[in-house]
Amino acid sequence: MEEMCGREVRKADIRSLSFEELSEELALMGEKPFRVGQVFSWLHEKQAADFSEMTDLSKSLREALARRFELTVLKPVDVLVSELDGTRKYLFGLPDGNVIESVWMEYHHGNSVCISTQVGCRMGCRFCASTLGGLVRNLSPGEMLEQVYRMGRLTGKRVSNVVLMGSGEPLDNYENVVRFIRLAADVRGLNLSARNITLSTCGLPEEIRRLAGEGLPVTLALSLHAPNDEKRRELMPVARRYSLREVLPACDFYFERTGRRVSFEYSLVGGVNDAREEAEELAALLSGRNCHVNLIPVNPVKERKYVRSGRRAILDFKNVLEKNEINATIRREMGRDIDGACGQLRRSYQKAHS
Ligand code: SAH
Repeated sequence: MEEMCGREVRKADIRSLSFEELSEELALMGEKPFRVGQVFSWLHEKQAADFSEMTDLSKSLREALARRFELTVLKPVDVLVSELDGTRKYLFGLPDGNVIESVWMEYHHGNSVCISTQVGCRMGCRFCASTLGGLVRNLSPGEMLEQVYRMGRLTGKRVSNVVLMGSGEPLDNYENVVRFIRLAADVRGLNLSARNITLSTCGLPEEIRRLAGEGLPVTLALSLHAPNDEKRRELMPVARRYSLREVLPACDFYFERTGRRVSFEYSLVGGVNDAREEAEELAALLSGRNCHVNLIPVNPVKERKYVRSGRRAILDFKNVLEKNEINATIRREMGRDIDGACGQLRRSYQKAHS
């Protein structure tokens, strides 16, 4: 830790720096330009866990880097492995003692990781466990990348898709999330196409519009969960701030600017938002849009009273959408035997350690 006015300050996280920023830093340290590529590759291609691993750098440079920067590494604290489908839920420890969840999922088309963007969340969705303790802090780009890198390393497999659907609201941590996407898509690093990154949001219209202008073709998923404002406000406090009349045009704008079809997520809660009339209303709301609806049977959270819709209700809901020419799928439930939607693993860990 560097000392400043007698107080400890955190050093900059080297994994959060863009290639250009790293170039500037190394230039300030008097290093030759070719070193930048070497260091960047250690950070993002070889995904080093310590400066001492960077063996083609001189010992003095490794030491200088360690004095100047933090190299964030996540510590696996717990892992639950599904015997049904290979899904793995990791609980990772951060350097400051907080814990976050990340999920590894294997599909026919490749391996997908679901990562957290914040420690906790302040959006308050009624059915979600991540929000129960409020927001603790934002995650840095390096901490988001490390979730992806660590899971790739722990499984020994290639990551082909990243979904920002773990704990946190990505657009409430806008700058860091956009930096994360640029770093993950960097050809000198993980080289993941932005098309293979899905960002899920509870619906912050201004940030959706801003994201549309970043030149990043990420897939946008909107957490809709209700066919009208009244019902949406019951489930999602953010809907009191932004009505669908603001959120949906922002999604349309995103589609127009990026050409990327928007996905709408709809968690089905038994007796709350799963009636036939609600499916009809949803179809009318989305009619004429080139979109996709993802139906998610709600994962009951102990602290809340909500229950999952019955099998029949789920199928009926989907049929109504399809009859109205709205493309819909029922999300395949991954890792059903290891339980836990957003934030549930972290929450049970906190309870056991408090
Ligand atoms: N904050 C972002 C991303 C995190 S959650 C968002 O709101 O989109 C990813 C998705 O899982 C969201 O659609 C969220 O509403 C949903 N979700 C959270 N908890 C859930 C639960 N217990 N059951 C079903 N879906 C849930």
